[in-house]
Amino acid sequence: MADFASRLLDWFDRHGRKDLPWQVPDPYLVWVSEIMLQQTQVATVIPYFQRFVARFPDIDTLARAHADEVLDLWSGLGYYARARNLHAAAKRLRDEQGARFPADRETVESLPGIGRSTAAAILALAFGQRHAILDGNAKRVLARHAAIAGWPGKADVAARLWALAERRTPAARVTDYTQAIMDLGATLCTRRRPGCGRCPVREDCRAFAAGNVEAYPASKPKKDKPLRRTTMLLAIAGDAVLLERRPPAGVWGGLWSFPEVDGATPDEWCRDRIPAAAGTSERWPVIRHSFTHFDLDILPVVVHLRGQVPRAAEAEGTVWYRLDDSPPGGLAAPVKRLLDTLKESRNVANG
Ligand code: SF4
Repeated sequence: MADFASRLLDWFDRHGRKDLPWQVPDPYLVWVSEIMLQQTQVATVIPYFQRFVARFPDIDTLARAHADEVLDLWSGLGYYARARNLHAAAKRLRDEQGARFPADRETVESLPGIGRSTAAAILALAFGQRHAILDGNAKRVLARHAAIAGWPGKADVAARLWALAERRTPAARVTDYTQAIMDLGATLCTRRRPGCGRCPVREDCRAFAAGNVEAYPASKPKKDKPLRRTTMLLAIAGDAVLLERRPPAGVWGGLWSFPEVDGATPDEWCRDRIPAAAGTSERWPVIRHSFTHFDLDILPVVVHLRGQVPRAAEAEGTVWYRLDDSPPGGLAAPVKRLLDTLKESRNVANG
C-alpha cells in the first residue's frame, strides 16, 4: 500500500479542487482566503472573497482603507474580529514589512488573527514551504484515520494530532498535499455521514475499520454543572395541598410551587408556618431538574396534617389547592409532575 500522502495526492489529482479563486501564488490572496475560511465554508466565501480583493487588491490598499469599509465588505460573513485583525495586520505589514507578506513562520504567526495552522497553510499554499496544518478538516481526517481519541482542545490530544500531521506531511508537493487534506475533510471525511466508500485512505483508516467514524474527533466535554438540593413539602390537609407563589425574581419567578423547607424539618415548618401539627410523613424519591447553569435535586416530603387545618391562615401568596380543581396559575415543571403523582396516588388509594 502506498503511503498516506501518496494516496491523498493521487486522489487530489483526480478529484481535488484546483480552480478556487485563491489558488494562485499570491500570499496576500491566500492569506485573505484562509482568514475567511476559518469559520466559513468555501461556497459561502467565494463571492465575499471576490468582492473583497476587487476592492482591496493588495496589502497597501487594505492598510489605507477605512475600518468601516473593511467591515462593510465583511458584512454577512460573521466573526468580525477576523476582519479587524486582517486590517490591523495589513497596517503592520505596510509599516514594518514594506507592504509585503512575510515568508518566515515566526513573523507570520506574530500577526493578529493568525495561529499556527493558518500560518502553516499560508506558507505551504503560497510559498510551497513544508509545514503541517491542523485546521478543522485536517484534524477530522487525521483523528479518524489514526483513531486518536479525546477532545482536540486538550493539550495532549492536540500534541498527538500535531505530531501525526507533521509525520504525514510529505517533503514534495506540499502545496497540493495541504489543499488535498483540506479537500478530503471538506468533501468526503465530513462531520456527518462521511463518504468512506470513495476515500483514498480507507484501507488503513482505523475509525472506519472499527465502524465508529463519527466518534472522532471527540466533542468538547460538557462542563459538570453544580448541583443544588432542596426539600419540597407536600403538606396535605384532606383533599387539598399547600402551594406558594414564588417571588417574582429568581428561579421559577412568579410560578406556584410547594414550599421549600430548607433550614427546618417538615414538622417544624408546619408548626411554625401553617400552623398545624404534622402527622404521618413519607419521603418520595429525589427528582432532578436541570437548569442551564445548575441541576436541582428535589426531595419531596409528603406530610399529612393532623386535626383541623386553619384555612384562614392562607397568607398572601399561598393557597390550599384542591386536587380536583384547576391549578391557581403557572406551575413550576417539577411541581406539576409531583402534583400529577399525588393525584394518581390518591386515585389509587380511593380505588
Ligand atoms: S475512511 Fe472515512 S473516516 Fe476514514 S479518513 Fe476516509 S472518509 Fe474519513
